Amino acid sequence: MSIQDIWFDTALCFIGGAWVDPVEGQTLELENPSTGDVICLIARGQQDDIDRAVTAAQDALQGPWARMTAPERGRILARIGQLVLENADKLARLEAMDVGKPLKQAKADALALARYMEFYGGAADKLHGHTIPYLDGYTVYTLREPHGVTGHIIPWNYPMQIIGRSVGAALAMGNAAVLKPAEEACLTALAFADLARQAGLPDGVLNVVPGLGIEAGAALSGHAGVNHVSFTGSVGVGKLIQRQASEHIVPVTLELGGKSPQLVFDDADIDAALPFLVNAGVQNAGQTCSASSRILVQRGVFDEVLDRMAARYGELQVGPAMSDLDVGPLISARQKEIVAGFLAQGASLEKAAQGQIVSDAPAGGHYVAPTLFAGVSPGHILAQEEIFGPVQVVIPFDDEAEALSIANGTQFGLVASVWSRDGARQMRLAKALRAGQVFLNNYGAGGGVELPFGGTGLSGHGREKGFEALYGFSTLKTVAALHG
Ligand code: NAD
Repeated sequence: MSIQDIWFDTALCFIGGAWVDPVEGQTLELENPSTGDVICLIARGQQDDIDRAVTAAQDALQGPWARMTAPERGRILARIGQLVLENADKLARLEAMDVGKPLKQAKADALALARYMEFYGGAADKLHGHTIPYLDGYTVYTLREPHGVTGHIIPWNYPMQIIGRSVGAALAMGNAAVLKPAEEACLTALAFADLARQAGLPDGVLNVVPGLGIEAGAALSGHAGVNHVSFTGSVGVGKLIQRQASEHIVPVTLELGGKSPQLVFDDADIDAALPFLVNAGVQNAGQTCSASSRILVQRGVFDEVLDRMAARYGELQVGPAMSDLDVGPLISARQKEIVAGFLAQGASLEKAAQGQIVSDAPAGGHYVAPTLFAGVSPGHILAQEEIFGPVQVVIPFDDEAEALSIANGTQFGLVASVWSRDGARQMRLAKALRAGQVFLNNYGAGGGVELPFGGTGLSGHGREKGFEALYGFSTLKTVAALHG
């Protein structure tokens, strides 16, 4: 891990195609979660910086970007994707250092970012309007148009993936974006802006203002010049964002948390399920919106599944991101405290297994041993609330109806999966599960840029990823011509 990988000045904002000091000249320290050391300083953007960024985006919408054809826009996005690909190792090291995720997982995120740009580059000219039969003498058609300035407020857990899916889709539709990355991890957002500049993205089409949520974030989500807000983060902040956006009647996409279940039936292929059952809970140290934190298992295979999951947990190694073990540290001391609070609530439960923190893990890192609980009732706080740490609960069920009722028995609705060889059951549950995406005999924690993604209930609304995102990042105009 090396500070030499950083080729840009981290304490600046990227506005109007240039690296600029934050207006008030304030900075924040960026921490390496694997060691607790400060990596560098980042800009602490404020209202004035957001104002400048929104103005730069508005200006860009009057410039060459607005006159570009969709294929030309797509070509630029594809060029950005190519540069991301060429710099994937460097980006992965930045992300590993900044987020604390094991290098292999960070590399997968960099490749996903490249793929998003490639996908949205190719999609830029594929979303058409329609002609609509109407009264005699009329020709009616619809036009797909950008919203204008889109605001993107993103969390620290998957910066590259979330930039790819939201900024990629917004630019494909011809919007100009202002991105507020998380204060805990923003290096790859800044690196991405620089690669976009190198790829020839016109000035002001992408602006990045790092800073605190209550300062830069709130300034962006409440800005009268922003025409659409894409927010990925916690439920609490999502509610604030929706309230703020309503002041200006601005559409919002909310990608929030989850408590996603995997349902394992007696007739499941347990060998196939096992890696998914565990990985979906501990990937990125469980700090994944689509983490599978509830494993529901039919009683006939309950002991087998629990024993085999526990054995896998026993092998999990936790250590610094650069050691590229199974699990890295949590993002911050605060996050570790939150997870410790949940673990304390489970003190009286049966702890089925725990992973191991390697002995040479730096003392300043925010490490938590992955923990598997058994004998948890569906209403227990560990089975109801998003923990955002490497903690899973295993819950038994008797039949399909009970499994469904437990699965749908939280306020979230992000992801669910069904492990069963019974095709009819798969179809029934795919319909009945309350979730934005259902996986049958697999579990996709947000993977696949082509797959629309989003939630229901407290998990949010709107869809990002895939072609579907293009509808959210554009608006429709109906043109009716009376020509006799
Ligand atoms: P968070 O809500 O604290 O922060 C997310 C972003 O919002 C950050 O950039 C932060 O600076 C900003 N923010 C904070 N307060 C703000 C305010 N008052 N106004 C405007 N912006 C503000 O969330 P987090 O702790 O960084 O991320 C974890 C949460 O994100 C989890 O709940 C997780 O499930 C969710 N998440 C969801 C998805 C998804 O696609 N559904 C993906 C990743 C993470």
